[in-house]
Amino acid sequence: MAVYEAVFFILLGLVMGSFGNVLIARLPKGESIVRPGSHCPKCQTPIKPWHNIPVLSWLLLRGRCAACGEAISIRYPLVELASGVIFAAIWWKSGASLFSIMAAMSFFLLFILSIIDLEYTAVPDHVNLPALLFALASTPYFFLNFENALLLAGGMALLRFFVSWIFQKEAMGEGDVIVAATMGALLGVQGALVAIFVGSVISLPVALYARFKGRDPEIPFIPYLAAGALIVYLSTPWLVNLWSA
Ligand SMILES: [Zn+2]
Repeated sequence: MAVYEAVFFILLGLVMGSFGNVLIARLPKGESIVRPGSHCPKCQTPIKPWHNIPVLSWLLLRGRCAACGEAISIRYPLVELASGVIFAAIWWKSGASLFSIMAAMSFFLLFILSIIDLEYTAVPDHVNLPALLFALASTPYFFLNFENALLLAGGMALLRFFVSWIFQKEAMGEGDVIVAATMGALLGVQGALVAIFVGSVISLPVALYARFKGRDPEIPFIPYLAAGALIVYLSTPWLVNLWSA
């Protein structure tokens, strides 16, 4: 039944989102993601399991720690909600299968990677590499996915080399090369190229705004790559056909 499938994917997404919050809060600081268990960052009180239900607990506690009343960022339920939406969207596009779950996991990790990149300008391999592995397993055609991943990684590495050479400074991160590989595995070579283009178009107004405001124009690029990848995945084959027409 489609309804059960949808509910399953949304719930899985919510639970993964809860785990994603742990990754965002701890990985950039080099903390263990297993120990200690979740606790309030202010009063250190361990969070009880029934206070740790995705989205619901935050709403019931009105965004405050149950022990000390410290405000808990709305980022937590939003990340959980967005993860649920990502899983539901992949189910909507590709149906319920193990491969769909792999694809959803990969997009979910790209999303978490984007948040970490935005907030800490860090791109931890502990999120980036699993995203690639899940992408490789996202269709039955593992070797084709692997080939596409290699092509995109190679292309991105070359681009990085030339751009760095032209501007005489390190351009883009090594993390971008792995993300490109993930995109190649998820979308195929053509789809990934369209996704990079779409991501660049989305990033343009933000880059211009940053320059206009006199801020550092070095904006994190991974959120835009991830957004472009999701847009192409969900709109395939429409967007890619449009491109090749
Ligand atoms: Zn507290």
